Amino acid sequence: MEIQECCYWCGAPATSREHVPPKCLFPESKDFKDLIQKDFRKNLITVPSCDAHNLRKSNDDEYLMICLASRAGNNVEAYYHTYTKVRRARERNPSIIDVESETVIETTNTKFPVQWVNVDTFRLQHSFEAIARALYFNEFGKQFEGKCQIVSRLFFHPDATKSTQFNIRACEMIELEMPSWKTEPKGENPEIFTYQFSPEDPMKVRTLCLTFYEKTRIYVILSRMTAEELAFQRKKHKAIVDIAFGDILQPD
Ligand SMILES: [Zn+2]
Repeated sequence: MEIQECCYWCGAPATSREHVPPKCLFPESKDFKDLIQKDFRKNLITVPSCDAHNLRKSNDDEYLMICLASRAGNNVEAYYHTYTKVRRARERNPSIIDVESETVIETTNTKFPVQWVNVDTFRLQHSFEAIARALYFNEFGKQFEGKCQIVSRLFFHPDATKSTQFNIRACEMIELEMPSWKTEPKGENPEIFTYQFSPEDPMKVRTLCLTFYEKTRIYVILSRMTAEELAFQRKKHKAIVDIAFGDILQPD
């Protein structure tokens, strides 16, 4: 008898397997053959998924690929990915990215075309949550039952100083704590993607670090605390939270 697999996120009967993170983030060998002979799609992780929680079915995978790979400051693999697969995707669907302005940055001997784009934060956060839940399912063999909060320097906006500041400070706190996790980063294609779970702390909170193209980091805070436990802890640790984030958590 065949056993019906359940979706990594909601537990509904699965209709397909979902790559985690999406397969399109990993360059195809044909795009790199002039540069380097390397397989960037070694042992990709898949999890069972329903249609609603499959990023490929919603096209969110392509949006995520464009936003992550074309970000300035990534490694050379991301640069090549941007000029091959990402470029083809944008040519096929020009309206997928909302370009605010274009400019050229000149250094002593090179010119870099740069675009400032408006990123759909909620769409990206949904994708990162899906990746976190899928990796959790893959790691622990069950659905994650709790809340996810996404923190990253990627969520930068000049008009939203408080949320930008919140993201920067939360990242700094997590990075200070990371050496004490005593866990190793995992991922068989480290130029493209690695992930690292922290142990779960006594407050039933665990942090997951996602690293794309060696430079772009996203943290997902996975909390299994109930609403009552959360309220209690907020009260208990109010003094610490006030010191770390007090100025930016105040309403305007
Ligand atoms: Zn589902």
